[in-house]
Formats: sequence, structure tokens, C-alpha cells
Amino acid sequence: MLEPQGEMVGRFAPSPTGAMHLGNARTALLAWLHSRSRGGRHFLRFEDLDSGRVRGWAYDVTRRDLEWLGLDWDAEYLQSRRLDVYADALSRLDTYPCTCTRREVLAAIEDSAGAPHGEEPVYPGTCAGVVTRHTRPAALRWRVPASTVCAHDALRDWRLCQFLPDDVGDVVVRRSDGVYAYHLAVVVDDALMGVTDVVRGEDLWTATPRQVALQVTLGYPPVEYRHMPLMKDFEGQRLAKRDGAPGVRELRDSGRPAGGVVSALARSLGWDVPEEITPRDLIPLWRVWDAREAGVPGTQT
Ligand code: GLU
Ligand code: ZN
Repeated sequence: MLEPQGEMVGRFAPSPTGAMHLGNARTALLAWLHSRSRGGRHFLRFEDLDSGRVRGWAYDVTRRDLEWLGLDWDAEYLQSRRLDVYADALSRLDTYPCTCTRREVLAAIEDSAGAPHGEEPVYPGTCAGVVTRHTRPAALRWRVPASTVCAHDALRDWRLCQFLPDDVGDVVVRRSDGVYAYHLAVVVDDALMGVTDVVRGEDLWTATPRQVALQVTLGYPPVEYRHMPLMKDFEGQRLAKRDGAPGVRELRDSGRPAGGVVSALARSLGWDVPEEITPRDLIPLWRVWDAREAGVPGTQT
């Protein structure tokens, strides 16, 4: 069942695989600002399908980190409790089993005339016409339509068009260990939860056309995307948990005021704010930034 249309609905969708670092916190803040600046509803969705990577403690630490920063949400979802909706969507897609390992995929690309032209290897369809010989557990791949799909980013007015067979290849929608793939789950969830606006990290931008293609194939309504710049450390490297980037929990435990951390996150975007500030105080600045980034003259505050 689809939620009724009309109202703006946004979400923050962390993977509970570890502690939140400042980069995640900034994306969480911006997603919240967008929802609240529109008077919309805002959801927290734990993307916890990959049980091997999930850390049980991360759910609660994430909730408390968000609350400490001053962010709230109207409903919470766990993907791990929604397996039936992914199964249902998957059954409506044209898929085939694929037993290729990553190494075999790379070898097949080398053997074929077309060299990989993107950063990620494009699956050449090795198993597409093969009558199943299940010697090992098979992933399921969605046979992508032979069409060009474009994505649009409303923050910076970016446009990205990909010819699915050449630029993307047949997409894994269920892994060989039975885990539903991120691309499928995110598209199904955003549609069934009535999400109208997606605010997330820029690292997912090049995956957006395939998600749009899944939406179209499954008959879901389009969503408006905004991809946020990733937070860089002093050396210009992308912040990641593994590099020991400061965790929100450590800052919280250190007795630092949350308003100071919110202020630091806003300043990292170049926003001119006092040393301590609440997320709600930032709503007017978000509006100006959102309008400016898209090249529309900013409104006066
Ligand atoms: N769960 C994804 C992440 O942690 C975000 C997915 C999305 O926002 O579409 O990066
Ligand atoms: Zn294969």
C-alpha cells in the first residue's frame, strides 16, 4: 500500500554498522533541515539488511546521538523487519540467477571487447542466457531495460544520464547469501513509506539513475534528490569511520555542548553561525543555501 500523496516526507537512513562520525551527522542534520523547513514528516530508517555488518549497539547509540544533536523523527523503521516487501517487489522484476564471483566478473570484462569505462566494473551479462547450473549459491540480477535513464539533483541542478546496459549492467537485487541489495531496498522503502524527498551523501549520486530505473519499472512515483557534499578532513580526505574520524558519541561523552557541534557542522558548510546553535535555528540558513546551490538567487533573511 502506498502512503497518501501530497505532503513532503523525508528520511535519514543510516546503516547501524558502527558509530556515527561527523560526516554522517552532517548528512543527518541536512536531511532533517530539509524535512522541517518544508513542514514535512521525517523518518529514521535503519538500513540493517546486511546482518553480518550490523552492530547491535549501533541502533541505540545512533538514536541517542541524533537526539543529543537536537534532531527528531516521526517514525522509525528497520529494514530487517520488512523482508516481505522486498520479496514482493523482487517477484515483479525480470531477474536471473548469477553464480559469478567478483573475480569471474572482472575476467569476463577483460575477455570481452569493451573495456570497463567507468570506475566500477559493469557486469557483462555472463549468466543472462544460461540455463541454471547451480553449483553454488546464486545472486539474483535484474535484467535492466535497454534504455537511458536520467537522474536529477535538485540541490545543484545536476543531471546524470546512463544507458543502463553499458553504463550500469544487470543489477544485483539479492545477493548470493540471500541479503536483499541496497538499491532494491532503498527504492522499495522510499516508495512504500511515501518518501517524496531524498537527502543523502554525494557518494550515492552515480547510483541514482539505476534507482530511478527501478522506481519506474516497479511503478513507483518519482522522488526529488539532493546529494550533500561529503565532509572532508584537514587533508581533504573523505571522512570515514575507519580513519578514526571523531565520533558523535565521543563528543557527547566529552561534555561538549551539542550546540557547539551543530555550529561546527554548519560552519563546515561555510554558513555564518554563532558558536552554539540549535538545528531549528538553522532552518532559514538551509533555505538560503538550498536556493543558492541550485543557482537560484538566494532569498534575503
Ligand atoms: N544507508 C545508506 C548509507 O548509510 C544511505 C542510503 C540512502 O540514503 O539512500 O549511506
Ligand atoms: Zn553471472
